[in-house]
Amino acid sequence: MSKHRATVCLTFDFDAISLWIGPFRATSPSVISRGEFGVVGVERILKLLDRTGIKGTFFITGHTADTYPESVKAIVAAGHEVGHHGYLHENPVVLSQEEERTVLEKGLAALDRAAGVRPVGYRSPSWDNSPHTIHLLQEYGFRYESSLMGHDFMPYWARVGDVIHKDRGYEFGIPSDIVEMPVSWILDDFPHFEYVRTETRLSPGLSAPSKVEEIWRGEFDFMYREVDGGVLTLTMHPQVIGRGHRMLMLERLIDYFGSHDGVRFATLAEAAEEYRAAHPKPAS
Ligand code: ZN
Repeated sequence: MSKHRATVCLTFDFDAISLWIGPFRATSPSVISRGEFGVVGVERILKLLDRTGIKGTFFITGHTADTYPESVKAIVAAGHEVGHHGYLHENPVVLSQEEERTVLEKGLAALDRAAGVRPVGYRSPSWDNSPHTIHLLQEYGFRYESSLMGHDFMPYWARVGDVIHKDRGYEFGIPSDIVEMPVSWILDDFPHFEYVRTETRLSPGLSAPSKVEEIWRGEFDFMYREVDGGVLTLTMHPQVIGRGHRMLMLERLIDYFGSHDGVRFATLAEAAEEYRAAHPKPAS
C-alpha cells in the first residue's frame, strides 16, 4: 500500500490573452476579452482553494505573467505552485531548437519578474512536445513535465531519443531525468466546455457540467478501486472553469473526491517528487 491510496492534482493553465493572440492570432477585442475573463476565474479559483485548504498548480504563460503580475503574485502568495507554460502559448513542435530555448528563457524571466518564482514543472502549450523539449527541460533543471498521455493515473519517466520507424517497430529511447505527470483530453475542461469557431476549426464545447462531472467522477472511481497510489490530474483553465455553473461543479467534485478514505490533494510538484523518491530511474 502506498502512503496515500489516491492523489488528486488540481491544475490550472492560466493562458489568459496569450492563447487568443498567440495560437488563434486574434486581434478582435471580443476574442481577446475571453482571455481577460481568466483573471476573474483566477479570483474565484483562489477563493475556492482557500476555502477547501487545497494547494493547486498553475501553469502560467510568460505573457500572462507580464500582463497580470498581480494575479501571479496572488497565486504565489496563497502558496500554490507555479509552472512554466511557454511565453505566448507557442507550440514547441513548430519551433526550432533555438527558438524553443528562447521561449523557455523568456517564460522563466517573466515568471521571475512577476513573482520571483523559478518553476520546477513544465506543461507544453497545446500538450505538444518537440523532440528537443525533454532535453531542454533537463538542461534548465526542471523536475517534471505534464504534457504526455502514456498512462492515465501513474507518473512515469519521460524518455529522450525515441525514433519513429514506419517499416518496423517503434524504437523507444532512454529514460530522462524528468518525471512525466500524464494528462488527458477527457480530463481537460477546454474541449468539453469551450466554444471555438475559426475558419479552419469548430469546437462545439458548451457541455453541461453534469456530463463532465460524470466523466471525471468515473475516472476517479476507477482509479480509486483499481490503481493503488494513482494520481488523478485535472487540467482546467481559469477562463473556462471560472464560469459560475462550472465552479459549482468543481466544488462538488472536490467534496466527492475528498469524501473518500486515503485521498489527498497535492500539487503536481509534490506528486512528482513522491514518484521520484519511490521509483528510482531505470538503468538506461
Ligand atoms: Zn495553455
